[in-house]
Amino acid sequence: MKLAERVSQVAPSITLAIAAKAKAMKAEGIDVCSFSAGEPDFDTPNHIKAAAEKALAEGKTKYGPASGEPLLRNAIAHKLKTENNLDYKAENVIVTNGGKHSLFNLILALIEAGDEVIIPAPYWLSYPEMVTLAGGKSVIVQTTAATGYKITPEQLRQAITPKTKLFILNSPSNPTGMVYTPDEMLELAKIIVEKDILVVSDEIYEKILYDGTKHISIGSLNEEIFRRTIISNGFAKGYSMTGWRIGYLAGPLELIKATITIQSHSTSNVCTFAQYGAVEALSGSQDCVEEMRQAFAKRREVMFNRINTIPGLSCLQPDGAFYLFPDITKTGLTSLDFSNALLESEKVAVIPGIAFGADDNIRLSYATDMETIEKGMDRLEKFVKSKI
Ligand code: GLU
Repeated sequence: MKLAERVSQVAPSITLAIAAKAKAMKAEGIDVCSFSAGEPDFDTPNHIKAAAEKALAEGKTKYGPASGEPLLRNAIAHKLKTENNLDYKAENVIVTNGGKHSLFNLILALIEAGDEVIIPAPYWLSYPEMVTLAGGKSVIVQTTAATGYKITPEQLRQAITPKTKLFILNSPSNPTGMVYTPDEMLELAKIIVEKDILVVSDEIYEKILYDGTKHISIGSLNEEIFRRTIISNGFAKGYSMTGWRIGYLAGPLELIKATITIQSHSTSNVCTFAQYGAVEALSGSQDCVEEMRQAFAKRREVMFNRINTIPGLSCLQPDGAFYLFPDITKTGLTSLDFSNALLESEKVAVIPGIAFGADDNIRLSYATDMETIEKGMDRLEKFVKSKI
């Protein structure tokens, strides 16, 4: 069979593949410690499930508008206004099948052959693949631990060409957990405005922050940057709703309308009754978000301390998300060899940094229980000691 050329240009998602492999090994009875996919281990809070169940019982089982249920679009616009200081109307919002789908819709609506998209590395692995699928060109800007894996204003300025259309900003970051300070954001915003490019702010980890760190949306800094910003977010991480597949985009009307057109010919609406669960997530008690955040904070502490006591590994302390991104260069292994050997010999699943454009690192998700973390760290220590 002759497949379309675009298929040969992209690879399957490594995060999903390794997570599936770890799950399959567990199902075979193998004692695997999985730190692979970034998926909270908590069940979705009961009040959110109850709201979706009620909607299902009430017959909210039909097609809805491709753009999303009006109630949810309104709730999202309200959230963006009150929590993020972003002045959007419901018509500026599209409800999508998860944060990944938000970004895919956006990139498809915006990027075409010849367009460049600036992506700081380490990056979430699906960004460049989406750009490729849309026919665009990713301009990867390498960052280092010295700048906390954050792009500097000089780096952004240098990467911009007349072909640059979009800059992808992800704070808190997957895979590093780093968070841009308000001052750093402002410096980036100045360049975006001056060069008149667009920025998509992927804020999927906004609720998962530590040590008093605050989330700032770049679009809230001033009117000029607001007009050039598109917000991508969703319910998966903050509300532990990964399998529900509900995300959203907010941005300039013309662009949101274009994504609705694309969505109307691809997925249509997001599962109707599920959207009522999302309404409850936003309008109900936020205690569940804080409880999960506190659990992540404890796990971060334990995992971070353990990793930094392992000779040969070093790790920055992240301010957000639920990932650690240790440097493994002292082991002399590539990130792929390290990850494969660790899974093979110690039954510990991690994601090789190469998937995120950083071969000196591995990514560990601590969105898992403490017992797994303690056991997994013992095994990781044994493995690294055997390599150095
Ligand atoms: N975003 C999560 C991760 O990076 C889930 C898997 C995926 O979609 O890549 O692990």
